[in-house]
Amino acid sequence: STPKQKYDYQSDVARLRKIVINSLYSHRDVFLRELISNANDALEKLRLTALTEREVLEGAENLNITVKAVKSEDGPGRIIITDTGIGMTPEELTQNLGTLAKSGTTEFLQKAESSTDTSGTGNLIGAFGLGFYSSFLVADHVYVASIAAKSSRNPEPVQHIFSSSADDSSFEVYPDPRGNTLGRGTEITLVLKDDALDYLETFRLTDMINKHSSFSSSFPVYLFTQRLETVPDDEEETATTTASEEVATPSIQSESDEDEVVIEEAAEPLQEKTEKNLKTKTVTVDEWVQMNAQAPIWTRDPKSITDEEYEAFYSATWKDHDKPLAWHHFTGDSGSGVSFRAIIYIPSRLDESYWREGLEGSNKDLRLMVKRTFITNSLGEDALPKWASWVKVVVDAEDLPLNVSRETLQSNKFLKQLKSIIIRRLLQTLTRIQEEDNEKFEKLQEVYGNVFRLGAVEDVKNRDKLATLCRFPTTQRNSTSLDEYLENKKQGQKQIFYLADMGKSEADLAKSVFVEKLHARGYEVFLFGQPLDEVFVQNLRRWKKVPFQDVAKAGLKFGDEETDPEEEKALQRQLTEEYKPLLDWLRKESTDIVRDVIISNRLVTSSCAIVADAHGYTANIEKMMSANNN
Ligand code: ADP
Ligand code: MG
Repeated sequence: STPKQKYDYQSDVARLRKIVINSLYSHRDVFLRELISNANDALEKLRLTALTEREVLEGAENLNITVKAVKSEDGPGRIIITDTGIGMTPEELTQNLGTLAKSGTTEFLQKAESSTDTSGTGNLIGAFGLGFYSSFLVADHVYVASIAAKSSRNPEPVQHIFSSSADDSSFEVYPDPRGNTLGRGTEITLVLKDDALDYLETFRLTDMINKHSSFSSSFPVYLFTQRLETVPDDEEETATTTASEEVATPSIQSESDEDEVVIEEAAEPLQEKTEKNLKTKTVTVDEWVQMNAQAPIWTRDPKSITDEEYEAFYSATWKDHDKPLAWHHFTGDSGSGVSFRAIIYIPSRLDESYWREGLEGSNKDLRLMVKRTFITNSLGEDALPKWASWVKVVVDAEDLPLNVSRETLQSNKFLKQLKSIIIRRLLQTLTRIQEEDNEKFEKLQEVYGNVFRLGAVEDVKNRDKLATLCRFPTTQRNSTSLDEYLENKKQGQKQIFYLADMGKSEADLAKSVFVEKLHARGYEVFLFGQPLDEVFVQNLRRWKKVPFQDVAKAGLKFGDEETDPEEEKALQRQLTEEYKPLLDWLRKESTDIVRDVIISNRLVTSSCAIVADAHGYTANIEKMMSANNN
């Protein structure tokens, strides 16, 4: 016998487990999705490792996931989830399941503990992926038996068990007394709580797997089921020859994505018919039924896929409970001979961290597959630019070798081409919404309005398309595009008028003295109060050849001046002469504050205004700079 190593959970884990157990009762279903997703990750890791280290495939022939419910008359019910993935060494069992490795989890904890709303916490689970700990939603005790894949670093793996109960602050890791029963991979046994026994029902499990997991796993997921069947009773042996206590796990090729595979291994007599003349009896037939027999969604014909299927695939893959705003499913060709299929999703919100993170584009939500095998979600220097980095994409390339490395991908230009195709398709999708669906476009503005501005600044190549998507409030309308503004411009108007003051409300901007005369004369003025508005306009400079004009700066031209410019100049000179003593006095008094004091025809009701130099900083940027200096 080998000693059981006992460990205390890290305090974070203890807290997390407590939250999971206490406050997420209404989201209990997630446990299965999380465990299947871990099994899938483990299989993907194995398949990827096997490309360079064949020996990891030894130990178990097939790559699959099985789910089995075990009812018991005298003991508690159990659910057993097994995968033939990469497995875990005893150290990994301790490290991966006993500590919180993920950086996001601490944030989750703070949020969850300050939140009394359990449905909100449920969404957090989706965002952070509580993963393994969700087992304790339904289980009093969890056993994880695992044996790591054989490798040069681990030539003789030994199956170990991680064991933990829901109400314990410690866990144990020890060699599996049953020996190496798995060959390779991980078997998770959930000893169900008394109030979770309905999860043993086949229909519940089927439903949960169909809903959450049938799209997300590229490996077969088999569910153990039992059904009643009436069979001829002419051979006495039927029952005894086919019956067995345990049903062997499926031994089928993992590649068979298309065909439903049903294995009937055993039958147990349930009840012998008394009427001998009928010569039939009812038996219980045990089967492994493949749950995800259908080909992965992105390989299917878009016409055959329902919205619900698209949405279910989205939420299962990116762990987002909110439905996506839109998606686009297409076949592409990189131009360098690589054809691919892809689905682009537009989420209904941005991650909270989006604006906090730096501007270097990163994209962890682009899943690159080759012939259905997950290759990477990190495109390195070919990542999408910041403005597009939130998009969720699955790409499956047909004509690349499976063992393609990142370096190869980069050198054959595929990634660069892929990147620009995705951006083009994303822009098409956004533009289509703008043209076809007002309500959805409003929602897009709400979530991505600032993203479009950022894109127009950042992505010079797509600047015009992104600027076209931008909407701004004006003195006349709530939401105006640059094109709409130009359509509405007055005869002779040669500038696009705007007032920018970061953080000010539209109402306050509209009250500005700079705006009043223009408004009174019927000109539309953009009211730029969003942080990125001013940078946007300074980068664009003009739209369809019409320059932007800050109405708080010198250089304003009305275009409808009724007076002769010469006459106006003469009037200006005359007034300047007349008011010289006042102007001189004002200049002297305000010498530290302003460059000059002049007579103006810009104002209607206000007596004076401070105007920025045409080439100087605007008040707004000066404010930002002085804030930085302090
Ligand atoms: P995440 O999946 O987000 O990393 P989890 O809590 O779901 O977080 O899992 C924690 C870690 O435990 C995983 O990252 C993985 O290393 C390990 N793990 C969990 N389940 C399995 C499994 N079935 N096979 C191999 N490793 C696993
Ligand atoms: Mg996980």
